[in-house]
Amino acid sequence: MNTLLEVKDLRVKYGNIEALHGVSFNVNEGEIVTLIGANGAGKTTTLLSISRLPPPEAPKVIEGDITWKGNSILDMPPHKVISDLHLALVPEGRHIFGNLTVEENLKIATYARKDSIKDIHGDYDRVFTLFPRLAERKKQRSESLSGGEQQMLAVGRAIMSKCNFIMLDEPSMGLAPLLMYDMFRTLKQLNKEGLSILLIEQNAHLALKFAHRGYVLDTGEIVASGSSADLMDNPEVKKAYLGG
Ligand code: ATP
Repeated sequence: MNTLLEVKDLRVKYGNIEALHGVSFNVNEGEIVTLIGANGAGKTTTLLSISRLPPPEAPKVIEGDITWKGNSILDMPPHKVISDLHLALVPEGRHIFGNLTVEENLKIATYARKDSIKDIHGDYDRVFTLFPRLAERKKQRSESLSGGEQQMLAVGRAIMSKCNFIMLDEPSMGLAPLLMYDMFRTLKQLNKEGLSILLIEQNAHLALKFAHRGYVLDTGEIVASGSSADLMDNPEVKKAYLGG
């Protein structure tokens, strides 16, 4: 299997506070990998270190490396990470443009694409087939969408950016169970079509059911890893993350 993303011994600080103490993991082509952990474990920090889309106080990599297909991306400008590697981030809180319509949000996501208008239109159709609720709400301002619909729009935007690797930060957050299962079913379908996925989740049960492999992050360190089935059978993981 070809390795797409590799995080090697990553040490990251916010000011003087070290949030990641040497985190290593990888995602291979075609895989769904999950990073699970409690509040404050360092899950979001890991994603931000990879995408380097800066929050007000960006995490700073002190040591280690992040590679994409074997090449370091640490010195790559963030916009290049997104456009050249075809990598998309669906951040916690979704970050859609609330004052724009559904259609406009999807359109903006295509700005860096260099392929044909026909292909882009094909992807609009695909998003609206995957998420019929978005099709019904094309002209609606995005801030008036429900939480679940905003989440669909965030994933739809990732599809419109023509990514082949998507990083999702807590996509289940705030979603009603039915919508959550729909969302994961859709992501599974996209994975079968070739999308590789890195999923950050607090809901360990859901994440391990969905992913092929997983890593457990605890206060900035990976404390367990393996296939989802193995992790679900691991007594420590069961006790700490799966409610016994
Ligand atoms: P949650 O599930 O609650 O979102 P998380 O696993 O995503 O948690 P992070 O948000 O990555 O955890 O936080 C990891 C550590 O880094 C925490 O101790 C947090 O307080 C700290 N941290 C996060 N962002 C900042 C920041 N901007 N400045 C200083 N410390 C930060």
